Amino acid sequence: MKITGVTAYVLEELLGDKAFGWSQWVTDRRQTALCLISTDEGIEGVGEALSTSGPARIVASIISDSFAPLIMGRDPFDSAVIWDFLYNRSRDQGMKGLPIAALSAIDIALWDIKGKALGLPVYKLMGGAYRNKARVYATGLYEPQHVPSVAEALVAEALGYKKDGFSAMKLKIGYGIDTDMRYVKAVREAIGEDITLMVDANHAYNAAEAVRLAQAMEEYDVYWFEEPVPPEDIDGYLEVKQKSRILITGGECEFTRYGFRELITRRAVDILQPDLCATGGFTEMMKILAMASAWNVAVIPHVWGTSVGLAASLQLFAVLPHFPERRYPAEPFFEYDRSPHPFRDAVTREKFVMRDGYLDIPDRPGLGVTLDMDFVREHATSVKLEKG
Ligand SMILES: [Mg+2]
Repeated sequence: MKITGVTAYVLEELLGDKAFGWSQWVTDRRQTALCLISTDEGIEGVGEALSTSGPARIVASIISDSFAPLIMGRDPFDSAVIWDFLYNRSRDQGMKGLPIAALSAIDIALWDIKGKALGLPVYKLMGGAYRNKARVYATGLYEPQHVPSVAEALVAEALGYKKDGFSAMKLKIGYGIDTDMRYVKAVREAIGEDITLMVDANHAYNAAEAVRLAQAMEEYDVYWFEEPVPPEDIDGYLEVKQKSRILITGGECEFTRYGFRELITRRAVDILQPDLCATGGFTEMMKILAMASAWNVAVIPHVWGTSVGLAASLQLFAVLPHFPERRYPAEPFFEYDRSPHPFRDAVTREKFVMRDGYLDIPDRPGLGVTLDMDFVREHATSVKLEKG
């Protein structure tokens, strides 16, 4: 089988009055870069690159201008060889960030092709499923704009998730310790004791602040404290982890096995959160998982994108091992972004619906989704490279 075409699609939509704040800025748009790879056998694969902060147009341009010409004519089943080849070609300036997100989208699309060619879901190709459904937690509880009381709006949103059947949810913090404590207290008191509550500061604090906040949050039974300090501050992570009784998590801003090496070998977090669509796709994620299991550091992936990234992340979630294996292992949570996203579910024909707090993991070939090309063509700008 040969790769005959690569198309990168950019989707972007403004959020208007649904813009939402978090510890770093107010997000006023959702955007993403999708990658569609076609082959001489008529099989197509799709991937997504995480675009939380980087302009999706740049990611799409890396896919189509840098990487696409290098993989024309290659066999999608050589995905690991292709990964190393592309990484090496961008290594000098592209060890982290957008080039790796672009590489992730390509790798995910290649695995989609392999699965579709063999008639098997990606999780079968990666060694089989530990689970066929994912217990989800709601990511939301950002800072709504234009509301009279943020705390009241957060409480209403949290109660909505509880009513919808979520057993866990994640609150954004990082606005200053006093404000954070007001939100944590309000949400915890509203949802009661039975719902798991996580918080995420998106690296808003230094270690001393984060320790103070972690200790103050203890009485509200916070399950994990995500990205307390900047991703570069490994010693800060260690300090917070050692002084906090709340689990410390992080990793969504890290890339590739090389980037995760220090986080894992220094045991800087309790739970590692690599993002499949940012850190290098399935090929690289398998290596990160192997390294994490060797150091017995738990992994619960970060997930944030359209239903393409969601579908891919569900395939990964199926193969996520237990940390450690035991008779009654702890079941991981799957991140289910519920924050405003105008086209999250519109890009694929297949839709994902939560039932009783779980998402089913598709057992269809590849990622188990197909792009809704009518929607994508109508809403995306695209850059296409084709070779017969
Ligand atoms: Mg996060």
